[in-house]
Amino acid sequence: MYDLIIVGGGPAGLTAALYASRSGLKTIVFEKEVLGGKITTAHLVENYPAFVNGINGFELGELMANQAQKYGAEISFEEVKALKLDGKIKTVYLSDKELQAKAVILAMGSKNRKLGLPEEDQLIGRGISYCATCDGNFFKGQDVAVVGGANSAVSEALYLSKIAKTVRLIYRREKFRAEKIDIQRLQNTPNILTHTNSEIIKLNYDQVLKSVIIQNNKTQATEELFVNGLFVAIGHVPNTDLVEGQVALDAQKYIITDQNMTTNLEGVFAAGDIRSGAFRQVITACGDGARAAESVIDYLKKV
Ligand code: NAP
Repeated sequence: MYDLIIVGGGPAGLTAALYASRSGLKTIVFEKEVLGGKITTAHLVENYPAFVNGINGFELGELMANQAQKYGAEISFEEVKALKLDGKIKTVYLSDKELQAKAVILAMGSKNRKLGLPEEDQLIGRGISYCATCDGNFFKGQDVAVVGGANSAVSEALYLSKIAKTVRLIYRREKFRAEKIDIQRLQNTPNILTHTNSEIIKLNYDQVLKSVIIQNNKTQATEELFVNGLFVAIGHVPNTDLVEGQVALDAQKYIITDQNMTTNLEGVFAAGDIRSGAFRQVITACGDGARAAESVIDYLKKV
């Protein structure tokens, strides 16, 4: 029996594990992919305080995990298959066993949103990627495109501009809405070519991606861009499949919490990107994780 099971080993889950283990709670974190979650795909995290020159996202995730483990948190790379969250004792089902805990923090984050074009899935790994730091090097000296217009798309385009010959940044609106510092960098990077008011309407391929057809949504004019790689950075959808039907979700399927990270279920808390209304930054995910752990500590004193 654990005091606390945390599902998800991103910044929210790992910070919750740090706070909970330092308070003496028997805590385990389950992570099915990589510790650090989404930040592991960031080449450089420049807005996490204290790292004046930025820090690689993968390294930041590793440091957070090491710190939680130092105080006794267990970390397991098993995938949580199902959860039973009602009642005083919570059950987590793994592929070959089940574990129980008095409280659960849901910190499963979110996954990449897809464009929804018919050929998209079959071209993943054959030109289409959702992670520039993971796959950018496959396109050294080639022509690539990034689709999206917020922080992720602009930072992926900047990262790829150092590897690829040209980067086409395709955005459906007039003005990018990334941080100003990155928009300025964009304007000062000659091998990034921007296509605003533009949407991808077709992917052309044989074995691999050959080109994309974009359409200007003001003029309806179309253009074929010959690119070997297309990086999709159009936001995320929450990983709430495991808890749908048990925990209250908003219309976009993010978990509804109060400011103490409490969900509608007793003993069940949520933190980080999975939470409705979250700011979705590393620093706020960490803040959520700390708050969720404190709420667990208070909750366990009462039950
Ligand atoms: P996001 O802020 O949700 O933006 C998604 C972008 O994709 C928007 O530009 C959106 O267009 C576009 N989009 C959505 N659906 C689309 C579709 N079907 N077709 C074409 N375009 C589509 O996502 P994000 O940039 O990944 O950022 C996620 C979170 O991480 C944010 O909170 C962000 O601030 C944070 N983040 C921060 C940093 C940083 O601080 N440096 C870096 C990366 C990410 P519209 O603009 O028209 O809605």
